[in-house]
This record gives sequence, structure tokens and C-alpha cells, in this order.
Amino acid sequence: MQLDYSFDREHIWHPYTSLTNPLPTYGVIEAYQNRLLLDSGKELVDGMSSWWAAVHGYNHPYLNDALKRQSEKMSHVMFGGITHQPAIDLCKKLVALTPAGLDKVFLADSGSVSVEVALKMAIQYWQSQNQTQKHKMLTVKNGYHGDTFAAMSVCDPVNGMHTLFNQVIPNHFFASAPSCPFDEPFNASCIQEMETLLQQNHQQIAALIIEPIVQGAGGMRFYHPEYLRQLRLLTEKYEVLLIADEIATGFGRTGKLFACEWAGITPDILCLGKALTGGYMTLAATLTTDKIATGICNGQAGVFMHGPTFMGNPLACAVANASIELLLENNWQLQVSNIQAWLEAHLLPLAEFEKVNNCRVLGAIGVVELKSSVPMEQIQAFFVEQGVWIRPFGKLIYLMPPFISQQSDITKLCNAIKSWLQG
Ligand SMILES: *Cc1c(COP(=O)(O)O)cnc(C)c1O
Repeated sequence: MQLDYSFDREHIWHPYTSLTNPLPTYGVIEAYQNRLLLDSGKELVDGMSSWWAAVHGYNHPYLNDALKRQSEKMSHVMFGGITHQPAIDLCKKLVALTPAGLDKVFLADSGSVSVEVALKMAIQYWQSQNQTQKHKMLTVKNGYHGDTFAAMSVCDPVNGMHTLFNQVIPNHFFASAPSCPFDEPFNASCIQEMETLLQQNHQQIAALIIEPIVQGAGGMRFYHPEYLRQLRLLTEKYEVLLIADEIATGFGRTGKLFACEWAGITPDILCLGKALTGGYMTLAATLTTDKIATGICNGQAGVFMHGPTFMGNPLACAVANASIELLLENNWQLQVSNIQAWLEAHLLPLAEFEKVNNCRVLGAIGVVELKSSVPMEQIQAFFVEQGVWIRPFGKLIYLMPPFISQQSDITKLCNAIKSWLQG
């Protein structure tokens, strides 16, 4: 049965789209493993993990069971004045798995909200230290941290939404995007601009926020771990907090459980989301250290000022617990290193095509960067025709498949990209 596409087109907003001139949508009626079933009967191999989230694939019996069992106990209770086992279990796991020192957990409803929470923590911390002038943020260009106002203000100032909202979003400090590729020798000059910005402005800066190692939605760029290690040293030297936004990179995607591990650092504040629930539902977390938490709570407010209605939702926490158990049980290192090898074998040779600027692979992330933007409607239709779900943006055709993907699936995804380049 076909979905009601005309209602969809007339009444429903999709991400970053027009309601008067929307691109076509594809109706999915079921999803299982790494497959999406369209209402046309066509089955697609998923190359997106529903935006970094569905690491175990769809309709997983273990996750389904966790959700079902929790729903029979309680789907939700307020977190104000109440606690429950799923939240306690999840926060224990997060404290144990994340870099040492991140012991205090705030459960938020989405990635963007966890970034808002991180920025508020940084500001409240400096207030508690009687340094109220430290309320600016420092970040790099080509970053992406979410769509809410404070998160937007630290996204890339050009390809982000600054021009649309420039009267209402605060002005922060931006350094150039890291210019030191992941797999080339580190050139110390790439950190110089950041050091200068810190030197000149640290008295106003509360925190430096960055996506560790992989800049995701702002350009799919991979930078050198030494850059991140240097940022940790510089932020300590200039008394600026370091916020690592691991919403996209967390839970194994880059080949480490958390991308901060590439540099062996502990940030002051860490944001998690996306794959946290294995892609089942929205949940995010902001972790911080004892020092920051104690500071905030000794400050003027005496509390941290945030508390969403659905904070610590038991269904989401139960699925997150099951997803983390599955990740550890499934030997994610092997899954990710296999996918990396298959992506390298099939994607890196595509660099020879005239239209291609650069191909790169890290962990279970594969990127083909073209010289010019792709025509979205045509390329989407072409990929669906080929039996794959790949959603490019701008000049970037990229893959971040579920960890359960088999070699033949990765080959099929890469071959579809190759066919597009040939056509
Ligand atoms: C997706 C993403 C966000 C925003 O998360 P939402 O759940 O979409 O609000 C923030 N930071 C990074 C790095 C992301 O990839």
C-alpha cells in the first residue's frame, strides 16, 4: 500500500526542507537489520544508520525486548524527586566507559539539548568562580553542534544558520577548521591560530567546544589526534573548559569507543547522543567532572538550572542499557575494523574519478568529497534505484553503515556510489 504522499507534501515538515517546494520523500514501512523496506516493495541496504544512530541495525530482538519489558513496568515517571533502575544502570555504564574523571551525568532529551546543557554548565561554573565575564565560547569553523539557539551559535558561521539569525545569536570566537589531516604527519603550525585566540581572549572565554577527531555534519573532516591533545593542554594553560561533542563519534564509530581516546584526553564536559539508544529513540547525556559539578553547586544558584519534562525517560534508558550491552557483546572493534577495511578497499580508489576531490575513511565512516554539489533529487532517486539508502549533502557522499553490515552490503553501497560517478 502506498503512503499518503500528498498529505505528507502539503502538511509535514521534514529536516531542513521547504513546505512549498519539498524534495520527494520515500515511504518506509518496515526496517530490519540493515534494511529499509519501502512501500513500493523495494528493499534498500542502509548506508546511513539513520544519522549515526542505528549501530545495531533496525528491529533488533534484544533492544525490542528491553523496550517491551520496560514498558510493562513504567514508560515514564518524572525525574524530579524520583529515581529509577534504568537511569542508575545507564549512568553507571556511562561513567565506567567514558574517559576517566567524567563521573557526573545529566540526562538530556536530544543532542542539541545536551549541548545547551554543556554550555550552561560552563557558564554556571565560571559564575561560581566569580568570573562572570567568562561567558563566550571558542570553537572551530566547519563544526556542527545542533539546531537550538546556543548550539547554532557554535556551528560553522558560513554553512550553519548564522546569517539567518545573526541578530539573535551571540557572537563567539572561531578559529579555522583544523588543517591537519588524521593520517598525515602533524604540523604544529595548525594549532597556532587557536593559541593566539586563547592568549588574547581567555578572560572572556568559558569553554572551547569541538567535535573530537571527526567534524561531522559541518564537512565530514577527520583531523589529527595531536590537535585535540594540544587543545587539552592549551585549555588547561589558559583556564578555559574543554567540551567534547561526541554525539556523532561516540560508541565506536571512529574505531575507538569514544573519539577522545585517540588523543588520550579527558574533556571537562562530554556530550553523547545519537547511537546512545542504538537509534531507537531520542536520548542524550552530558557528563562532567567532580570539579565542575562541585563548582556549579557551590555557586550562586546552588543547583544546575536545567530539568526537562522527559528527563531520564525509563524507556529510553532501558534501550540505551541494552544497546551498550549489545555493543560490548558484539565485539564492536572487529565489526568497525572490518567495515573500515571494506570501505578502504572500495571507496579510496574512487579518488581517481575526475569529479572527485578526496576520498577518506576512518572507522565505519567513508566519505567521497566531490568538486561540486550533487543534485539531491536525482542522486537520491538513483541510489534508491540501485537498492541502497545513501543521503548525500552538498559535495559530500558519505557512508556510516550499521556495525552489523556484511561485506556484501558495503560492496553494494560503494558500487552504487561508483556507478553514480561513472554515469
Ligand atoms: C547530530 C549532532 C548534534 C545534535 O543532535 P540532535 O539529537 O540532532 O539534536 C550535535 N552535535 C553533533 C556533533 C551531532 O552530530
